[in-house]
Amino acid sequence: MYIDTHCHLNFGAFTEDWKEVADHCVKAGVEKMIVVGADLETSAKAVEIAQKHPALFAGVGVHPHHAPGEFDLKKLKLLAQNKKVVAIGECGLDYHVYKNTKYPNPAITPELKTQQKKIFGLQIQLAKELKLPLIIHNREAGEETLDVLNHFCKDDGQYPPGVFHCISGSKKLLQKILSLGFFIGVDANIVYSSEVQTLASDAPLDRILLETDAPYLGPGRDGARNTPKSVKIVARQISQLKNLPETEVIAQTAANAQKLFKC
Ligand SMILES: [Zn+2]
Ligand SMILES: [Zn+2]
Repeated sequence: MYIDTHCHLNFGAFTEDWKEVADHCVKAGVEKMIVVGADLETSAKAVEIAQKHPALFAGVGVHPHHAPGEFDLKKLKLLAQNKKVVAIGECGLDYHVYKNTKYPNPAITPELKTQQKKIFGLQIQLAKELKLPLIIHNREAGEETLDVLNHFCKDDGQYPPGVFHCISGSKKLLQKILSLGFFIGVDANIVYSSEVQTLASDAPLDRILLETDAPYLGPGRDGARNTPKSVKIVARQISQLKNLPETEVIAQTAANAQKLFKC
């Protein structure tokens, strides 16, 4: 059994056919999919479709890209208490400048960084309170992402379990992530990214989760809509890199996902 631990069947690209896509993926062996929210609206949608489909589970959270938007902790907490919710996220830090954004100023100002850290911190605390794992998004902010985690967890020594999804960064950052007990999420960009290949090679198999970030990050790099079925490509790449049987990669990564998300 494959598990896609991070996809966005709740996003606009799947409005018309999320159910058909989910059914098709189940038939292809992707028996469970975690649908991840990026703001309150898409988090509510993730919960809604997870309730309608037995193979779907939900993550609820506010992505750092939406730091300038609404953040309502009460609403998020309410959503998080639904029984199909298996994680808080995606949340974290993102210092990449996106040109296509609905917010008026795409620049990463010091104020925006502070706001990102604030809402990330609130979600770390929520994960700890509700005893849910965290789905952490980090883009171009690795060390500071760890700083925020340390800030909110060092005092009581309690880091919530979680995953650094769509892994990127240096080998040194990877070692810090692993030493705090986190998993890493590997996507189909492993096909063409030597950085991801290096990180997936270095990480032990019992810390790796398969994911797709569908509709994004397809293996073809052509902008075509990605689907959760791409976890198969990710598993194959990892088995080749680590020189392990593909069946072992599939079974171990599914066990990892079930251990972390209890799905
Ligand atoms: Zn992300
Ligand atoms: Zn995502």
